[in-house]
Amino acid sequence: MIGTARTQRVPGDAADVDVLVVGGGISGLATAWWLQREGITVELWERDARPGGKIRTDAAGGYVSERAAALMMNFRPEVTQLLAESGLDAAKAPRSAGAARRYLVEQGRLVAVPTAMGAMLGSPLWSARGRLRVLLEPFVPRGGHAGETVSEFVSRRLGRELLEKAMEPFIAGPLASDPDRAEARATLPRLKALEQRYGSIAAGVLVHKLLGRRTAHPTETFSFEGGMATLIRVLAATPGVRLRAGRAATGLEPRASTWRVTGCGAQGECAVSARHVVLGVPASAAAQLLVPVDRELAGLLRGIEYAPLVVVHLGLPRPAIEHPLDGAGFLVPRREGLPLNGNLWMSSLFPGRAPEGYALLTSYLGGARRPQAFDWDEERAISTVLATLKPLLNIGGTPAIARIHRHRYALPLYHGDYLGRLAAIDARLSPLPGLHLVANYRGGVSVRDRIACGRAAAGSIATALGKRPSATVDAQSSPALGAATA
Ligand SMILES: Cc1cc2nc3c(=O)[nH]c(=O)nc-3n(C[C@H](O)[C@H](O)[C@H](O)COP(=O)(O)OP(=O)(O)OC[C@H]3O[C@@H](n4cnc5c(N)ncnc54)[C@H](O)[C@@H]3O)c2cc1C
Repeated sequence: MIGTARTQRVPGDAADVDVLVVGGGISGLATAWWLQREGITVELWERDARPGGKIRTDAAGGYVSERAAALMMNFRPEVTQLLAESGLDAAKAPRSAGAARRYLVEQGRLVAVPTAMGAMLGSPLWSARGRLRVLLEPFVPRGGHAGETVSEFVSRRLGRELLEKAMEPFIAGPLASDPDRAEARATLPRLKALEQRYGSIAAGVLVHKLLGRRTAHPTETFSFEGGMATLIRVLAATPGVRLRAGRAATGLEPRASTWRVTGCGAQGECAVSARHVVLGVPASAAAQLLVPVDRELAGLLRGIEYAPLVVVHLGLPRPAIEHPLDGAGFLVPRREGLPLNGNLWMSSLFPGRAPEGYALLTSYLGGARRPQAFDWDEERAISTVLATLKPLLNIGGTPAIARIHRHRYALPLYHGDYLGRLAAIDARLSPLPGLHLVANYRGGVSVRDRIACGRAAAGSIATALGKRPSATVDAQSSPALGAATA
């Protein structure tokens, strides 16, 4: 471990604001929204001129494309509450009725993944042996070890075939992760909890169904009119949140009962004293600010691995694609040996994403599976995507447009003893009252989980400030720290 030195708190203590949020991605913006709802004064510093962090929508030439989050899959009441109270409900763009289907690549062709359990078992995706192994899941005894990986957990409970054909592409696609290294408890907390509690995943699902647990908040897939940028625009304009775009935090110093944060921007250097500071920035940026405060905490944060991702958007004449594009898109199991992790059919998912007569296809390259794709030049990335899509979708023409975006630190990887790392981070935070870490390396990477984590952080800040949090959310839905997404 790195040195344990912590700085001493120094006197000089009047607070300028109740809370300073550092970082204007969805984590910081959502936390600020929940804070102002509690009547707390909030200032938010965002390093870039534009808030939103990784989330950004590009609209030009009739195409509306997303640089990061393309959609939300919500079943959390906190998210429903934020959308209703912020007015975002009116801008919601639900997934098109015909785009519920999802595909997997199986032996070089697309196979639809059935959603109902009965149809799932009857699907041509599974061999008779693989199907039988899934059916035996309720009879598999509880087991596993503390650091069990996703691959170990899923193959122990459901068999190798389900791991390779269904779970691996889900972990490698939306999470950009590697199931051989991802910690099961951190990545699939709900499935692990079902095993712990009911002895089997199937038994747990059945009990939850009988108790109607999930039906109270059915899963809804949507974006917004104008894309995910609308979510950012509305949250960034929240009355009661003083947004300072173009201002980066450069220093953090604990005082007797406040935090002094220094920063720089177009107007030069500045400083603010806040009773609470929320760091809504990636782990490495938080680590940099925390070195003078607690070097061990900074080291724990710096040790969090991130996966790179390349997003490639292709606009194609619709008649050039033979496939009906009757779904959301597809994921690619590693065993297929293809360079893509997945492909979203954005113009099927939401109306208005491509000009009339054209389709917009969004592909993801890289992740933990193939990080070297991050360094491919534009031409190689685009031609690789096109060559992979052509036989799967029967594409005859050439793209009308191509857009490419790179994220070197796209998503945190919940690899190794991840929950152990989070517990160590929590332990270092406890003697630092007023300091909060709210970003996608804690509590889930999805936009849904970021909003829910912001709610939880705002609740504890309100309590610490002596306000009674006005939560209406049931305790069951609070995000478990360490939950990746599922
Ligand atoms: C390619 C891709 C596709 C995705 N698809 C989906 C999807 O379809 N659905 C979904 O739910 N999720 C998706 N995600 C996940 C989701 O988009 C991210 O997890 C989420 O946007 C991260 O938000 P954040 O606020 O934690 O971090 P960021 O977006 O990284 O925001 C951090 C902010 O902090 C700022 N900052 C850094 N240092 C400082 C400083 N010193 N001072 C001030 N500001 C600072 C940065 O400029 C940045 O704006 C996707 C992610 C990627 C990369």
